[in-house]
Amino acid sequence: MIVGIIGGGQLARMLALAGQPLGIECLFLDPAVDACARSAGELVCGAYDDESLLGVLAARADVVTYEFENVPATSLRYLAQRVRVHPSAEALGIARDRWHEKRLFAELGIPTPSFMAVDSWADCEQAVAAIGLPAVLKTRTMGYDGRGQRMLRSAADLKEGYAALAGMPLILEGFVPFDREVSIVAVRSAAGVTRFYPLTENLHKGGVLVQSVSRPADPLSAQARALASVLLDRLNYVGVLALELFQRGDRLLANEMAPRVHNSGHWTIEGAETSQFENHLRAVAGLPLGATGALAAAGMVNFVGQIPDPQAVLAVPGAHLHVYGKVPRPGRKLGHATVRAADETALYAALARLRALAGTAS
Ligand code: AMP
Repeated sequence: MIVGIIGGGQLARMLALAGQPLGIECLFLDPAVDACARSAGELVCGAYDDESLLGVLAARADVVTYEFENVPATSLRYLAQRVRVHPSAEALGIARDRWHEKRLFAELGIPTPSFMAVDSWADCEQAVAAIGLPAVLKTRTMGYDGRGQRMLRSAADLKEGYAALAGMPLILEGFVPFDREVSIVAVRSAAGVTRFYPLTENLHKGGVLVQSVSRPADPLSAQARALASVLLDRLNYVGVLALELFQRGDRLLANEMAPRVHNSGHWTIEGAETSQFENHLRAVAGLPLGATGALAAAGMVNFVGQIPDPQAVLAVPGAHLHVYGKVPRPGRKLGHATVRAADETALYAALARLRALAGTAS
């Protein structure tokens, strides 16, 4: 079985590593000659919209999937006419545009922050008048890890925030003074079987995820699962999907969905019975899904901009190191550590040590 993957970054690499024991080979399309997945499979190097290379993927792969949302829609259509593509072009098309995404959430009764489309300065003023401040102005597409967004705290921020993003279709969202950020990572098979990983509690700094902790007994699990379930069924979804949520009191509001394996699910590599990567491959390859329960108290710390000394990381009890093989750059996700511990106290102690090593302790 050959799985084609659009993108050759760390998510593609971890998918390929999970596929190896199953006899699944991965073929990546990525414009970077040094794409970090290349050591785990075969790299087809070139542009995401190069039809001759998409043709190679279509001819050689049994099924094609992707590791990021910003795949050109035309590329996915081209592929979908020639080879099975999971998750579907529809799911990708919705997830890549925050406006379509939030409209679908609203249509399905999934609560969201207030939001309005902003295509001009007049729209921006109207949206601020309707939603109020503080608010967050975001590009509808191409935003990730907090990029392409501006926090508008007061009227004085408005002109500058709009000028920084103008020229792209935008969305204004009410700022949610959330108690917690959580995500629910789910996997659905072509036969419609859905499994959920335990709810994950996430901590971001500057828009970038720094820590995730699995919360198997979280009181909001059932609510999160119900929201994700509606979405998966409406999209007739196949593969792993992550729904990112804000908690306010006892209520969850949907921030965004990722139609792919997700950073907040990395703890599942050592922390769950079947990792998100293996289950995504199982789903897209038409294989039975694996169990998604946590094996122990489990979590993850991201390494952004630098990888700490492996001696120190691996001296933390229960820690496993994952290095992506990417050239270090400030703000770049270079690796992570997962932790499995006997109980929550030991888990949080280990995560604190790892965050100190990662430079994200405070
Ligand atoms: P996003 O790229 O939309 O996932 O945003 C990155 C991070 O910015 C989120 O994980 C939140 O920490 C923060 N954020 C985004 N939108 C909002 C919002 N409407 N209210 C409060 N915080 C937000």
